[in-house]
This record gives sequence, C-alpha cells and structure tokens, in this order.
Amino acid sequence: MRDVRGDFPFLEAHPQLAFLDSAASTQKPWPVIDAMASFQAAAYANVHRGAYRLSQVATTAYENARSTVAGFIGVADPEELVFTRGTTTGLNLVAAGITDLLDTGDSVVVTEMEHHANLIPWQRATKRSGAELRVVGLTPDHRLDMAGLASRVDESTKVVAVTGMSNVLGTKPDLPAISALAGAFGAATIVDGAQLVPHSPVDVAGLGIDAIAFGAHKMLGPTGIGALWMRRSLAESIEPFETGGEMIREVTLTDATWAPIPAKFEAGTPPITEAVGFATAIDYLSGLGMTEVSAHEAGLTELALERLADDVDGVTVFGPPVGPDRGGVISFAVDGVHAHDVATILDEHGVAV
Ligand code: PMP
Repeated sequence: MRDVRGDFPFLEAHPQLAFLDSAASTQKPWPVIDAMASFQAAAYANVHRGAYRLSQVATTAYENARSTVAGFIGVADPEELVFTRGTTTGLNLVAAGITDLLDTGDSVVVTEMEHHANLIPWQRATKRSGAELRVVGLTPDHRLDMAGLASRVDESTKVVAVTGMSNVLGTKPDLPAISALAGAFGAATIVDGAQLVPHSPVDVAGLGIDAIAFGAHKMLGPTGIGALWMRRSLAESIEPFETGGEMIREVTLTDATWAPIPAKFEAGTPPITEAVGFATAIDYLSGLGMTEVSAHEAGLTELALERLADDVDGVTVFGPPVGPDRGGVISFAVDGVHAHDVATILDEHGVAV
C-alpha cells in the first residue's frame, strides 16, 4: 500500500506521536479536510428545500454522498441508506422502530461482546415491548459461542443484534453464518458495523444481513454523521425515530403521513457538509482499496500481537489469535498495573492508546 502518512496533517503536526487510538476515532486526511472546507466556504446551502440553484447543487452533493456511502457497502439502491448522527443513532433508530413490532412471547438475541450502542437499545426495546432478551456468551478464546447462539434463536426470535467486529476483542463474528441461522427463523440480523466497515470490504448482500449501522468518524470522516442501511422491507415496516420537517408526505394541523424512505428517517436539517466529508473519506479509502487496507492491517495486527506476547513481560492479550476472524483492535492487560496508568505512561512516551 502506498505511504499515506503525509496525507494526515495531524501526524505531521505530531511527528513523534504513535497514534494508536483510531478505534475510538480516526484522524482526517487532507482530501476530507479540504472538501469540507471548500464546500462550507463556497457551496454550502440547505438541501431539499431551496428553489435556488445553489440549494439544488448542495442537494446533489448530499444525495451523491448517499450513493457513495451506499456503494461502499454494496447497496444498489441508495434510498435504503439513511444518514444518521453516527452508529449509536443508527442502532437506536432501528431498535426503536422494531420495538413497536415486538410483543410478549417474542425474543431478541444479543451477544456479550456488544458495545453499549448495540446492547442498551435492545434492553429498552425488550423492556418496553415485553419481549425476552437473550444473551449469547463467548468461547474461552473470545470468539462468539455459535452453539450458544444456535440454542437461543428459535421461532420466537425477531432480531439477532450482533457486532461486525468487537471494539474490545477484535473478534469478527461469522455474519453469514449468523444471518443464515436468524433467517431460518425469520429473524432480522442487525449489525453494529462501527468497527467492521472502516477496516474491510463489506457487501451487505453477501453477508445476508438486514441492517448495518456505522459512523464516519472512525473511517477518516467527520463526527456528527453516520449511515444506517436497512433492507427496504424492514425500513418500510418501521416507524420513524424522529419527526419534524422534511420527513412528511402530507401534514395538517392534527395529522401527518410519512415521506418515502430515506426522507422518512431524516427529520430536520441533515449534516450536509459532513456528508460531503463522509463521501470524500470513502473515496479516499476506496482509492487505497479496502482489500489492501484490510491486508495491511492484518499484517500490523499480527506484528503487534507477536511483539506484545514476546517482548513485554506480564502482558495478557485478549481476543482470538491472528486469523481471518481477528481484526485490528487489541486489548491487553499488564500484571499489577491499572489500565489508566499504562495509558498515561505510554502517553509520556508518545504513544496514544
Ligand atoms: N459500536 C462499536 C463497536 C464501537 O466501537 C463504537 C464506538 N466506540 C460504537 C458502536 C459507537 O459509535 P459512536 O459513538 O460513533 O456512535
């Protein structure tokens, strides 16, 4: 892969820094910074509502961004792609919508490795609807317990909510196997793609899933924008998360009907400049090639895991060993030293974790 360091002004500004916190949020390359600055400076206008030419140009930029993001995950119909505030909002949107469809006697299956963003919305969905929340555990090597999953999914199951890659363990659950299991019982597979989409090629059709949420800021784009893809049938069957301007078809003082997707889920003025930045980040990643990005990361992960195990005494590394189901997030503990102290000491040596 070509040397990309020079594309990141943050790294130039901090030449001694080893920035190892991209799982939390990534730095931005020049193309993203430039695209957002020039759009904001000379092309900014509200979208979808203005009759003047520049509003239409901004609308085209916003809708082109939707097509770019959709194409990045293999979605043929950009209308199925909703811009959100981020992964958290996307998962809340889909969980809130599905809550109305749940009933006593139904079940929702989550896993023990979920981020709060893909756990709490389902806790609330099941509490509010009276459905049962079932939790799948892990194997001793920190993979998803597939036998445990198989024993928890049955005719009552409406949703299997699972991460594409654990932000703690680096584990990448087998999404095609999970969606096949869920689909056999008519359950929807809802994926937290926050750590998956930035790091490997994703094709939603090949994964067999029904929805995936991810955010721009973990993939070289800005904060404040993310995307939620839902299969059209799911998107059309749920109620919108937020209501207000832009999402209505017809309105009277006492009633309203919803616009078709994706507008139905995009109440209010959307993050327009951020959409331009998001699409530019995706163009940048696509220019590198996600297969190359993923292969480069696999090499770095292998090296880091080897060095941690061999060179540092008293370190325990969590997550599965190197392999295709092991992403680049690495968690470790140092015997007798609190994690905060490890991070502070590393920071003093110019390593941000
Ligand atoms: N899911 C996973 C796996 C994550 O790593 C994160 C971010 N730490 C989130 C969800 C939430 O993303 P955001 O805070 O950008 O909404």
